[in-house]
Amino acid sequence: METSIKLNNEVFDIEKIRSDFPILHQLVHKKPLCYLDNAASTQKPKVVIDSISDFYSTTNSNIHRGVHFLSEKATQNYENTRTTVKDFLNAKSEKEIIFTSGTTSSINLIANTYGRKNVNKGDEIIVTNMEHHSNIVPWQILCEEKNANLRVLPINNNGELILEKFNELITERTKLISVVHVSNSLGTINPIKKIIEIAHKNNIPVLVDAAQSIQHLEVDVQKLDCDFLAFSGHKIYGPTGVGVLYGKENLLEEMPPFMGGGDMISKVTFEETTFNDLPFKFEAGTGNIAGVIGLAAAIDYVKSIGLENINKHEAKLLNSATEKLSEIKGLKIIGTAKEKTSVLSFVVGNIHPHDIGTFLDFEGIAIRTGHHCTQPVMDYYKIPATSRASFAFYNTFDEVDHLTSALKKTIEVLS
Ligand code: PMP
Repeated sequence: METSIKLNNEVFDIEKIRSDFPILHQLVHKKPLCYLDNAASTQKPKVVIDSISDFYSTTNSNIHRGVHFLSEKATQNYENTRTTVKDFLNAKSEKEIIFTSGTTSSINLIANTYGRKNVNKGDEIIVTNMEHHSNIVPWQILCEEKNANLRVLPINNNGELILEKFNELITERTKLISVVHVSNSLGTINPIKKIIEIAHKNNIPVLVDAAQSIQHLEVDVQKLDCDFLAFSGHKIYGPTGVGVLYGKENLLEEMPPFMGGGDMISKVTFEETTFNDLPFKFEAGTGNIAGVIGLAAAIDYVKSIGLENINKHEAKLLNSATEKLSEIKGLKIIGTAKEKTSVLSFVVGNIHPHDIGTFLDFEGIAIRTGHHCTQPVMDYYKIPATSRASFAFYNTFDEVDHLTSALKKTIEVLS
């Protein structure tokens, strides 16, 4: 295995990085694990695992409501994470950071609060043809309830958005544009800043699904000027079951609460309930306290490696894999946008992606096969599914070579 890679005169010590991830050092079907399913979920460095274990070993207690030592310490750690996330996103205030269980629940929160309040009969919401189901279905449910319409920005054959079509889609009835920053099935990086500019010229707020960008690219909510943004902890080397919703304070302030319960209230009587201040208004009940604390460890870890370094290494992996897989006869890459993150979707003739995935598994290689919760993307390409290899900064060029040769072998057997 290569040990260190030079990036802009900085040494990216891949062996040291891999040693931070305990799960990577195991055999699968007697072969070294080659984990290339990072778009589905990333692996966790030891610092994240330790932070969760330490929390349960030393600090476990419910937050916000206790006057005792452990509760105050747990509250402090939980709220420190809010500051970590605020700084990471460059939000203006901690009030703009709401902890959820993940991207899906963040988007559903907006649909059920901002959406229900502002979308009425005949209004329109715009999404794109490359959205994950979690950025389609909540809007369909809302449109059904409100008799509103969902409109879809199309893509081209490279898997890029056709931005010019916004002119035809945006009307005075458009109430929200909800768009993915990076496609999980195509890898396309969307020109999100431009989309937000177009939307704002028409006084339309924008929700950004950052589930696949937060771990690869700098996401600065003030630079982007997005109105809402959602991401999941588990895609950025943090725990599952925790996520973030960012919202501009003035918008969150005007929104009704989503779930009712403890922590989100300031006073309850049977006659009347008043709600807590931001961000607690949207955090009913006991959340994933350990997960939130683990998320801070994950963000600190990513910052210590540096998003720029991560991006450079992953771009090299993607280029190498794209070059090598393109040479395989009969293999077609799905998603050839100019701007991509390290996601490589492909089909090979009539071979079913599940068969490819199963054969590669026997070589120790974990990839994802299926529609990747983006069935409209599959429909666009008239395919039922793809095989998808997705790379993280702990992946190596040896692993790209292993994927290439195992794939060649697999195709030979299955053809
Ligand atoms: N959006 C995108 C682009 C995704 O890739 C995913 C996860 N595959 C989601 C939303 C949903 O994320 P979660 O399941 O963590 O809520």
